[in-house]
Amino acid sequence: MGTNVRFLLNESDLPKYYYNIGADMPVEPAPVLHPQTHEPVTPGFLSVLFPMALIQQEVSREREIEIPEPVREIYKLYRPTPLYRAVRLEKALDTPAHIYYKYEGVSPTGSHKPNTAVAQAFYNKVGGTGALTTETGAGQWGSALAFAARCFDLDLEVYMVKISYEQKPYRRVMMETFGAEVFASPSERTQFGRSVLADTPDSPGSLGIAISEAVEAAATSNGAKKYSLGSVLNHVLLHQTVIGQEALKQMDLAGEYPDVVIGCAGGGSNFAGLAFPFLRENLRDGRGTRLVAVEPAAAPTLTKGSYTFDYGDTARMAPIVKMHTLGHDFVPAPIHAGGLRYHGMAPSISALYDGGYIEALSVPQLPTFEAAVQFARAEGILPAPEPAHAVRVAIDEALDAKANGEQRVILFNLCGHGHFDLSAYEAYMNGKLVDYEYPEEAIKDAMSRLPEV
Ligand SMILES: *Cc1c(COP(=O)(O)O)cnc(C)c1O
Repeated sequence: MGTNVRFLLNESDLPKYYYNIGADMPVEPAPVLHPQTHEPVTPGFLSVLFPMALIQQEVSREREIEIPEPVREIYKLYRPTPLYRAVRLEKALDTPAHIYYKYEGVSPTGSHKPNTAVAQAFYNKVGGTGALTTETGAGQWGSALAFAARCFDLDLEVYMVKISYEQKPYRRVMMETFGAEVFASPSERTQFGRSVLADTPDSPGSLGIAISEAVEAAATSNGAKKYSLGSVLNHVLLHQTVIGQEALKQMDLAGEYPDVVIGCAGGGSNFAGLAFPFLRENLRDGRGTRLVAVEPAAAPTLTKGSYTFDYGDTARMAPIVKMHTLGHDFVPAPIHAGGLRYHGMAPSISALYDGGYIEALSVPQLPTFEAAVQFARAEGILPAPEPAHAVRVAIDEALDAKANGEQRVILFNLCGHGHFDLSAYEAYMNGKLVDYEYPEEAIKDAMSRLPEV
């Protein structure tokens, strides 16, 4: 008998609760501040943008929050997702390490994003929302929310970062197929979009700008529209914990426990989704699993950014939060991992990193694609450019284990497939990809424009 490769759960194993790290946080969270007054935000301010159920989850200290039955019904389209042991990659690396990956690319839109999109659409629907606005970078979040909005019969307008709108037409078509309206950002539809275009007519856009447009569209709709965010916020990370809860059971089926858990980190949601249930075991059961967030060298929010109060968006309309940040007016280099180009990081992950409970690494674009191709050739799945960062570090861990003759158990989140990213693979194979380092002077410069609180 060969080694087991896939560890599968039944529909009945689908988690019934989200795990809320807020109940076990070993460090006090900083208050969320109003962008103009710099005073702690009130539920009234947030309720312009979000339904009350999500605002309550944002500040909840309850350990377990029940997953509504209509949300679980939709999860059943793709959950529980498989856990694989990468036996063929282990052989290719000739490593004594055991490498496992949780595969979220089996979701309808190809990433972990529907885990929160479906929940957010549901809570909006029961809260009486008729339409949603959002931003999207590479298009993963927009696709997921377009699918989720359709499930609950909500209208959706998406502000898509212009460079991605132009480079990734098929993500736009997917969103439109689900019935969403998609606009290249900066757009003429919002006051902020028009002001950016007046200053820089050929702006490639950024997530910070697109968030400002989507927030403005909701805030000026007289209650007709609410806004939905795909990462960073507590309630988003909460919804993603279905990933780690399933993975705990699946590692049990495999008869192993991870020494290290790895995830790529843009705003932090897929990393937290896998890692927080393992962090709970560290904090409450004395386990010692290392938790490693991986970011691009071109957007090194945790590894080089400051831990300080900053705006969530470029127009300074979104709340101010304490987080690792590269500055709210950060315009990233055009790396292909569009989902990792955000200027900030989830406040909870920032606080845990600052407190030494999680680790972070940054890796450049070329070695990331080298790892993605090596993984694809061994395992048959083309990773999205974002989780390719986690693949890079998983391979490095396996090679390090080999050098030290250790049988390390490695688990990483393969949070999306790269079937809409083939132009990036093509560029890599044609030798057209380059590495970008984030310029140190740019950080200093951006820090001079932080809010004074
Ligand atoms: C959105 C996205 C990311 C980055 O967002 P996180 O909140 O950090 O997970 C990473 N990978 C994929 C596939 C994505 O769609």
